[in-house]
Amino acid sequence: MSEQTVKKEIVEPLLTWYNAVKRNLPWRDKDNAYYTWVSEIMLQQTRVEAVKPYFNRFISRLPDIQSLAICPEEELMKLWEGLGYYSRVRNMQKAAIQIVEQYDGHLPKDFEKLLSLKGIGRYTAGAIASIAYRIPVPAVDGNVLRVVTRLTENPQDIMKTAVRTEIEKQLSDIIPVLAPGDFNQALMELGAMVCVPSGSPKCNICPVKEFCRAYISGHQEAYPVKAKKKSRSIEERTVLVIQDGCCTVLRKRPGKGLLAGLYEFPNRLGYYSRTQVLSYVRDLGLDPLYIRELPDSKHIFSHIEWRMKAYQIKVASLDGELTQDFFFAGREETQQHYAIPSAFGAYLKYLREA
Ligand code: SF4
Repeated sequence: MSEQTVKKEIVEPLLTWYNAVKRNLPWRDKDNAYYTWVSEIMLQQTRVEAVKPYFNRFISRLPDIQSLAICPEEELMKLWEGLGYYSRVRNMQKAAIQIVEQYDGHLPKDFEKLLSLKGIGRYTAGAIASIAYRIPVPAVDGNVLRVVTRLTENPQDIMKTAVRTEIEKQLSDIIPVLAPGDFNQALMELGAMVCVPSGSPKCNICPVKEFCRAYISGHQEAYPVKAKKKSRSIEERTVLVIQDGCCTVLRKRPGKGLLAGLYEFPNRLGYYSRTQVLSYVRDLGLDPLYIRELPDSKHIFSHIEWRMKAYQIKVASLDGELTQDFFFAGREETQQHYAIPSAFGAYLKYLREA
């Protein structure tokens, strides 16, 4: 066995530690593959504590795969509002339809079949298979990669697929057949609570420190090795909160691309002056009465960053229709039916002022 291989000796202390400290989570120890699936998808971009209320709301409205498969799109987006990366929930619904049609509404008890479902990658398939169905396959996410590369002082770039595949292989060799789900969750939990991503890892309370090469050499923070991501492009935008006496102007975004199918305030590429804003508002067929600047904000997507300037514009009530797919929506109507992505979160409070 090479020095850069995870040692089988970690299994027992890791499981003992996990059973003693594991957090009580609404999806944990429920023997429900759907719960595991929903929680894992939500957790891909969001912390555990923040996911809990979203998970509970989602499950109480969509308690099983059948209900997810038939949920109207607008309602689905509304249930996901605030979690971001909406393509995840769209893919979940596509997979749910596939599961109803092909597997009688149950997630298949097979790693490869899970992997063939829309939006389910190797990590999620491994998590569902091991946690819900006790199939001994690893589930390697960023937390697990960090723990393993520290345990083994693996100097390779974890962004490379070949490196992930090799780590999966190593874990497959030691995963306990009687408790594969606990083992995977223990590694994830260790990564989240002890072998943390920012700041120093808490090696003094780590159950596997005696098997950790990085701890022994004192080089914990040199791992994992990760190639630098390409820098994000910056996009300057002007956001317009246009309101008459009771409603705010919104628009549905196109069905493809960034924030597809969600609702937005009118916004323009580039920074607009007051004069340019007023002229644009008139072009929409509206009669502006008052304009004021709102605070700037920014939103970071994976590959792009929006830097936003914003204006609130009061307009005279309109009898006819607006141009360019825009429409007026009341506050309650917006809260109930229109999912506005968190990119515009800084301006949602002005809906109250319509
Ligand atoms: S000893 Fe420290 S670096 Fe090693 S796995 Fe534990 S927390 Fe991580």
